[in-house]
Amino acid sequence: MAVRQFEAESKRLLDMMINSIYSKREVFLRELISNASDAMDKMYYRALTDEKITFDQSDYYIKIETNSDDRTLTITDNGIGMTKEELEQNLGTIAKSGSLAFKKDNEIKDGFDIIGQFGVGFYAAFMVADKVSVTSLAVDSEQAYHWYSEGAEGFTIEEANKEDVGTTITLTIKESTEDDDFEQFLDTRQLQDIVKTYSDFIRYPIKMDLTEE
Ligand code: ADP
Ligand code: MG
Repeated sequence: MAVRQFEAESKRLLDMMINSIYSKREVFLRELISNASDAMDKMYYRALTDEKITFDQSDYYIKIETNSDDRTLTITDNGIGMTKEELEQNLGTIAKSGSLAFKKDNEIKDGFDIIGQFGVGFYAAFMVADKVSVTSLAVDSEQAYHWYSEGAEGFTIEEANKEDVGTTITLTIKESTEDDDFEQFLDTRQLQDIVKTYSDFIRYPIKMDLTEE
């Protein structure tokens, strides 16, 4: 008998992801920081084989910024970035992991450095944000792209301006309700606690301005 393939109902899968996979919503930050770290590790691996790229670990870091007027939380990395196709594939397909593919292509052994593998972590952002914006310039690319989504309905991709290789992810944090407090995700001190709890193992510096209000 022929084996039939399961088809994923993407919208419902994404709804499930957003609402029930993680027990604590603050882990979205761990997921985005891990992706940023993976992107910088990929630069490191590229540098091993591509003499046009030099990799100095001290140039690489993750920056976290908030703006309470716009209700935005921004995570920036200067990792390998994503092309238009990669934005489409890796952020447009649930359970598609560009990082797992990278490990396979480069014969990087499991459990070593690059964290990503399941291709679902990114969507954790929608637990705390109702709008997610990703601007990325891939290494070797001239054109940057902007990916934007408000969740299960889908996403758009358009050309963008970005000078530096890497990725900036901007979350528009949900409004708090009586039962749900989202303000902690706009407060750098509380974000710092979340970083300490969940991302202590990351080997790149995570920079945050704690003086901003
Ligand atoms: P995973 O990390 O398990 O692969 P994610 O859902 O967290 O799954 O991310 C999906 C894919 O999107 C990653 O594998 C990677 O290819 C790409 N990606 C996500 N964030 C970034 C980033 N900051 N820079 C470059 N690529 C990224
Ligand atoms: Mg990930």
